Amino acid sequence: DGKLVIVVTPTYNRAAQGYYLNRLAHTLRLVEPPLLWIVVEMGEAVTPETALMLRKSGVMYRHLFCSKNNSTNFKDRGVHQRNTALEHIETHRLDGIIYFADDDNVYSLELFDRIRQIRKFGTWPVAMLAQGKNKAILEGPVCDGDRVIGWHTNEKSKRLRRFHIDMSGFAFNSTLLWDPKRRYHVSWNAIRQLDTVPEGFQETTFIEQLVEDESEMEAVPPGCNRILNWHLHLESKNLPYPKGWELSENLDVN
Ligand code: UDP
Repeated sequence: DGKLVIVVTPTYNRAAQGYYLNRLAHTLRLVEPPLLWIVVEMGEAVTPETALMLRKSGVMYRHLFCSKNNSTNFKDRGVHQRNTALEHIETHRLDGIIYFADDDNVYSLELFDRIRQIRKFGTWPVAMLAQGKNKAILEGPVCDGDRVIGWHTNEKSKRLRRFHIDMSGFAFNSTLLWDPKRRYHVSWNAIRQLDTVPEGFQETTFIEQLVEDESEMEAVPPGCNRILNWHLHLESKNLPYPKGWELSENLDVN
């Protein structure tokens, strides 16, 4: 049906930013409308470079910024920016399926068609790819038909995390943000990402605010037998360049 897909992308200035945002824009341009792309920058204002990229993208978008910076020893990784987007969605009662799509990952078109069909909360396995390692690691649900029955885990995380889902491995109905009847934890003031949790717990502590257990989750697609997106760890600071060739800012190069 014509359900709105709301894609939330935190982004910040670094050498590969233009590459990442253009690549994601081209994917979203090919998705069947209606789709709204909420791009949230870090800092005191939006940047003209990102504004131009969005104007030219042909995608329906909202361009926000978030000046809250909480990084002394905690790597922020978009937490406050995603919360800026959640606040915007809640304030304006934007009715759709919310998906957190980081700028550096790779997404299939099929993923967005599947997301549109989610009723409350949907999840799927994500392939994690790391630079220099010729293998992919799955993170996400093990499914039986449309039911979630278990998780792909590793030794390190197994006992500690409630849900083993990547930030790019779930999507949920925006009405969960404001409809108390649909919410599991009615006592929460607002459903937000927490800046107080250790690395690796960001997803589970957020998802625990949305659903009580696996029985409330939808397997995407039924059987969870496809890879619909890839989570990359290819930070450009590790690429070797000849001395003097390195650009740390996101400049236009002619
Ligand atoms: N991000 C950001 N500010 C930061 C760090 C990250 O806006 O200081 C964004 C980044 O652009 C990406 C998302 O947050 O969209 C996740 O960042 P990253 O890929 O570094 O995290 P990882 O995937 O390694 O957990």
